[in-house]
Amino acid sequence: MQQTITLIASDKLISELTTAYEPYFQRTPPYALFQAKIPGVVITAYQSKKVVFQGINAEKEAAMWEKRGANTTQKKQSSNSSNSLPKDFASWNVVGSDEVGNGSYLGPVVVCAAYVDETHMPLLKELGVKDSKMLTDTDIKRIAKEIIHVMPYRKLVLTPKKYNEIQPEYNVNRMKVALHNQAIYLLLQDISPITPKGILIDQFTPESNYRKYLAKEKNQVTKPLYFTTKGEQYHLAVAAASIICRAEFLTSLETASKELGFTVPSGAGQKSDIAAAKIIKKGGMPLLEQYAKVHFANTQKAYHLINR
Ligand code: MN
Repeated sequence: MQQTITLIASDKLISELTTAYEPYFQRTPPYALFQAKIPGVVITAYQSKKVVFQGINAEKEAAMWEKRGANTTQKKQSSNSSNSLPKDFASWNVVGSDEVGNGSYLGPVVVCAAYVDETHMPLLKELGVKDSKMLTDTDIKRIAKEIIHVMPYRKLVLTPKKYNEIQPEYNVNRMKVALHNQAIYLLLQDISPITPKGILIDQFTPESNYRKYLAKEKNQVTKPLYFTTKGEQYHLAVAAASIICRAEFLTSLETASKELGFTVPSGAGQKSDIAAAKIIKKGGMPLLEQYAKVHFANTQKAYHLINR
């Protein structure tokens, strides 16, 4: 289980920590004095003299220093108080699934399910698979290109055109449930007769809601389903799926930019309104429907920009 322990260290303790962990230093993050990595724990000492121990052995490692440092106080947080995954879940063979794009006005919704077992894990880690929110776009595209050859996966792309067609009937959550289920179902067929010990869905709606929409689908995969937010932190399968999704989404926006001759941004802010206005001027609503999720408020805002 991921643990996070924070100690407030004295100057003396900081210097002791520095000496002890120096052989294990890695690149120093902003505002940190050092960061070191030992099996099961990452130790980060900050300029504020907070020292953060994170990882499965954090508690044990921090306890050792608590005994030595007279002036330390401990703040303990459980970083996964809201999830009920089994303790050793990270080492299970798992299908993980994630999606991207549903919050972006322009571009598709992409869902990916990936199967990761212990034979894939060392290479995925070596290739840099981790929380995609901590990776740059360039990293994501590079890592995705490599990991698609490492483990089985299924990727589904719901184009804006298709999205707009089904959107009146399928609300966003129902759409996502349908896509996750379909990606998982297809992947389970690919890897058969292997069956995963768990299927972890990066949670976007309560489990009861997921199951409510699932009941309307064909090819329902009902177990062994697990749900947690920040799923990429709990299994490499979700982290890998997330990276493949993001890479596909980025590529789609790049393709759209080439086709249209200007930058097609992600998100749903003012940049998106301006891009949409340009698309409308070029080809009206029919062209916009090819690139945008037109039920977003951005469509009205784009028309306001044009009619101003
Ligand atoms: Mn997600």
